Amino acid sequence: VATIGVDLGGTKILAVRIERDGTASPVVKRSTPVDEGPDGVIAAIAGVVEELGLEGLEAVGVGAPGIVSPGTGRVGNAPNLPAWGESVALGPRLADAVGVPVLVENDVNAAIVGEHWSGSAKGHDDVLGVWMGTGVGGGLILDGQLRRGPRGAAGEIGHIVVQHGGRRCGCGGLGHLESYAGRAAMEVEARRRHAAGERTLLVQLAGEGRMKSGVFAKALAKGDRVAADLVDGAVAAMGIALASVVMLVDVTLVVVGGGLAEKLGDGLVGQVANATTALLPSDLGITVATAALGDDSGALGAAALAQSQFT
Ligand SMILES: [Zn+2]
Repeated sequence: VATIGVDLGGTKILAVRIERDGTASPVVKRSTPVDEGPDGVIAAIAGVVEELGLEGLEAVGVGAPGIVSPGTGRVGNAPNLPAWGESVALGPRLADAVGVPVLVENDVNAAIVGEHWSGSAKGHDDVLGVWMGTGVGGGLILDGQLRRGPRGAAGEIGHIVVQHGGRRCGCGGLGHLESYAGRAAMEVEARRRHAAGERTLLVQLAGEGRMKSGVFAKALAKGDRVAADLVDGAVAAMGIALASVVMLVDVTLVVVGGGLAEKLGDGLVGQVANATTALLPSDLGITVATAALGDDSGALGAAALAQSQFT
């Protein structure tokens, strides 16, 4: 008996099968179909699940980018998924297609559960995970359990206010962490400064394309001032948000993951640790660690969640 975990992203689908004894299959990777909306995406997930094997399968877990309404398996507000539009009953529809129960969870929640199951957070009962990607996502594990909250919003650290009356966030709010530490918001700010006459390698390296995390790493390595400034701003904002969360719920470990953390590496994570510690009472030490599982954490966590829910 086994579970399969799926990490559904805007460009790719990753999946893994975990047996009852904890052994995991290699992670398989497929492109997310972009032409057929939710129907195509659900069919593609069902295909990957069949490929990994329906025999002895007890349940499937899916980590999805968007608002997952607790208990229903519905996913809404997912701008990264092709033609997703309204809220989609992903869980029930996938369960019909594969014939076993399906649990749907927010993708960052699944990733932090993966890190808790077999990555940097293994053995820790109280953990905050922060994923610095296009936006900033988060997940909270308290007393060894994922904390979802009645509206599924627990751990959503990206929308904590770090600057009163600050930059406009994608959600409409002002001064949220994501507007300082999310890659997309940092790109907007870099292009704004470039247009205002500041020279920066960031725009030169990215051209008209997306300013990927690797572009920030390259510009930073070459001593680009705007890049350094933006990263300093991201670190300061992370420090404020993390110190507030640590003070409120007393987590002892913060795991930082996502594209920006991966590309900027331990240097960034060390700076975030210092910025956080500087704002906390001196007897509340914390550890800040880099996520260990890379892209695989979401699929592994989704499988682990399905296992704890259904088996
Ligand atoms: Zn926001």
